[in-house]
Amino acid sequence: MKIGCHGLVWTGNFDTPGIRHAVTQTRQAGFDLIEFPLMDPATFDSKTARAALDDEGIEATGSLGLSAETDISSEDPARVQAGEDLLNRAVDVLAELGSQHLCGVIYSAMQKYDAPATEAGIDNSRTVIGNVAGRAAEAGISVSVEVTNRYESNVLNTARQAREFVSGMTPPVGVHLDTYHMNIEESSMFAPVLETAAELDYVHIGESHRGYLGTGSVDFASFFKALHQIDYDGPVVFESFSSTVVSPTLTSALGIWRNLWEDGADLGAHANAFIRGHLAASASLRHH
Ligand code: MN
Repeated sequence: MKIGCHGLVWTGNFDTPGIRHAVTQTRQAGFDLIEFPLMDPATFDSKTARAALDDEGIEATGSLGLSAETDISSEDPARVQAGEDLLNRAVDVLAELGSQHLCGVIYSAMQKYDAPATEAGIDNSRTVIGNVAGRAAEAGISVSVEVTNRYESNVLNTARQAREFVSGMTPPVGVHLDTYHMNIEESSMFAPVLETAAELDYVHIGESHRGYLGTGSVDFASFFKALHQIDYDGPVVFESFSSTVVSPTLTSALGIWRNLWEDGADLGAHANAFIRGHLAASASLRHH
């Protein structure tokens, strides 16, 4: 199992120095893996990233949230095509990095919608995700859809919706759960993990306010016990956002208005220890 950290813990700017800084800090905090935000994959310097990953001896994954202009759950063919083009470029970047995972809010725009998703829009989304997963599979990359809360998408708000969305897809598309979103939408931190045991292949660990783990209302003990129960072996990636580190494209979409921490290095090292501690404790359940 690889324990990772989202790149926005370290910098809001993924230019060449930003990439190097984020990779170095991720390794120094004790993580095995960095998740790069690929909001703009066309300009992402994959050569620098690959060299930095090799230097530090860690792996990478990539995630993004689509925008209104690239919304594949739209009924506007131009937006759907723009979204497919963007996701294909993200797959190409990840192939250049030797990465094995593309995830995030890749099935709709990451924004608050003012109406429910339409059946035609969801069909468009499933078609594009299927196409992108096919291209990704050729490069050994798995694609998973991140279940998010109602204020960030109108397509997938629960694990059960995600399981239905990916049902029957070839190649298989995975489900990506995030404790921050689960804490808002799900009935518990346990049942959604068990219900997606066959599809779950990516996990985000976030606190209820997206700050220091253990200082909010997320029931992490139940969540990690559930991961143990299904023998989950995929990436477990810490995600946190503060106005200390601001990404212009994400600040508004995620509502990052407050300062929840100032020292990313302290936050990251704490999260690494917190996650590994919970996993070690859960692993001991085999003796029970
Ligand atoms: Mn997340």
